[in-house]
Amino acid sequence: MLPFRDRVIPKIVSELVALGFVLFIIPAIYIFELAVVLPAVYDGKKEFDTFWLYFHSACGTFVMFNVVGNLIGVILVDTSAKHIIVDTSKADASNGWHLCSVCETISPPRSWHCSQCNTCILKREHHCGFTGCCVGYNNFRFFYLFLANLFFATIYATYFNHYYIWSQVIAFEWSHIIRIVMPLTILFFGIDTSMTQLYFFYYSITMIGCCFSGVLLYQQSYLAFFNQTSWERNKGTNEHDCGVMHNIRDALGHRWYLIWLCPFLQSPLPHEGIQWMTRKQISLEGEKNK
Ligand SMILES: [Zn+2]
Ligand SMILES: [Zn+2]
Repeated sequence: MLPFRDRVIPKIVSELVALGFVLFIIPAIYIFELAVVLPAVYDGKKEFDTFWLYFHSACGTFVMFNVVGNLIGVILVDTSAKHIIVDTSKADASNGWHLCSVCETISPPRSWHCSQCNTCILKREHHCGFTGCCVGYNNFRFFYLFLANLFFATIYATYFNHYYIWSQVIAFEWSHIIRIVMPLTILFFGIDTSMTQLYFFYYSITMIGCCFSGVLLYQQSYLAFFNQTSWERNKGTNEHDCGVMHNIRDALGHRWYLIWLCPFLQSPLPHEGIQWMTRKQISLEGEKNK
């Protein structure tokens, strides 16, 4: 059972605003797709329209469930090192154990102190400005699946929005393109309170979300496949790369192939996040077993 965080509301105002925006925009776009876009695209004029309307509504709901469920997982699961009971006889500096001067304790290998979370984080990846918490060993699977589902959801939504939005525009104007690419030009063109403007806003946000989640998904896939953190990648070290299957289990747990279906399915991690195998150890063990 993964430990839960004591405090989930971000302390920093910018993070609180970012989290509020994420919690508003995800359900808003979901409702827009199901209540406005899909009924307009599948309006019953063609054969099988009703089937496709229900089919895409069900698929959209499934993806939405995974986006929100994994987002909740990132926020709720505690990935700090404070639950770890340190066995001082094994806490050797040569294995990567180090003293954290802020926590005034010995920290496990690959864990680093986060000044925003004010604690040491197991296999610290980064502090996420949208959720107000760190991504580390215990909650990485939720973060990764959140990105993967968000990427798919935004592609899916953009595909339908494209048909719907342009069917709503009676006469093409260059200002439409500008409003899609830069939603803040509303300040220049003046506030347009029409529903079309709101739809343009959703259209822009899904495309921005698609690019943003796509880049992050690529980056995090690379790190998961090679068992690296961003910090280790910048330093050029990948001593924990023990083969793709080993690395995937370290990142997503033993049931990595099932967690794509439901964020609440358990996928136990192979260890506590304090004792990390190196490629050298794996090859030495392999030689011993020959
Ligand atoms: Zn610390
Ligand atoms: Zn943090």
